[in-house]
Amino acid sequence: MDEDYPRTLLELERRFCTEEACVEYLAALRWPDGWVCPRCAGADGWSIRRTRWLCGHCRYEMSITAGTIFQDSHVPLAIWFRAMWQITSQKNGMSALGLQPVLGLGSYKTAWAMLHKLRRAMVRPGRDRLDGVVEVDEAYWGGEESGAIGRGAEEKALIIVAAEEDGKGIGRIRLRMIPDASSVSLQGFVREAIVPGSTVRTDGWKAYLGLEGYVHDRQVQSQQEEGEHLLPRAHRVIALLKRWLLGTHQGAIGHQHLDTYLDEFTFRFNRRKSKSRGKLFYRLAQQAVQVRPVPFAALVKPQPVVSGGVK
Ligand SMILES: [Zn+2]
Repeated sequence: MDEDYPRTLLELERRFCTEEACVEYLAALRWPDGWVCPRCAGADGWSIRRTRWLCGHCRYEMSITAGTIFQDSHVPLAIWFRAMWQITSQKNGMSALGLQPVLGLGSYKTAWAMLHKLRRAMVRPGRDRLDGVVEVDEAYWGGEESGAIGRGAEEKALIIVAAEEDGKGIGRIRLRMIPDASSVSLQGFVREAIVPGSTVRTDGWKAYLGLEGYVHDRQVQSQQEEGEHLLPRAHRVIALLKRWLLGTHQGAIGHQHLDTYLDEFTFRFNRRKSKSRGKLFYRLAQQAVQVRPVPFAALVKPQPVVSGGVK
């Protein structure tokens, strides 16, 4: 399928004003080579009501949204499509408080759950790892930034960042929360985020020592100019991330949800040069039909961070 997406809000509203139109669109994204019946492998099927699809050969009925983030949602797909448009068309995204009135949602909880599900869809399943020269560094989030003065380091979340070198600029990035700055955590992230054989540039922290399978470019603090950073790209990403967390979200993010915000930031950052906002909508919709559904209870209490795990 050609990349088919609305270019403007008006186009979105005209085209996706019915559930049928939304279902057709999601079906085309989910089965780019055409729908195939899971029971008889027949290829003739059509939409019957809401999200239901009927096989014209064996009469098997299925939901187009089963197994996607839209599964079991009581919110009409037309509203979901507007939510996807809102969060991809705004440069910095939106908080649940901002989204609720725009979509006319009855409850804050609904807006919050929709946003969290969409953030899950911002990580493409099986996405590529970074390569080339990649800066890796850690930073703390929390404490004074989130307005809670006088808390100890145990109240802070540790974030690790990988940023590709692209000439003088930054290529793609990866971000994640890690439980500590041990070599298991740091090197586990490197293996998960960066293609073996790439050059990994870090500071002199000992936990990066013995990094196998990579060219390790260790920058040891010595005589650098004032205002100059050993790992300028990683440093810049962290500064932009903190500004975004404090700006769009007023810093009001529990550590248990931080990873999903890191996913949203990464999605936006890696597509920051995309000229078309409609294309971001397209990517998000495409990924939304590829990720597994998340029950509300799991959104509220996500899995604990496991070092070296694959996200
Ligand atoms: Zn069939």
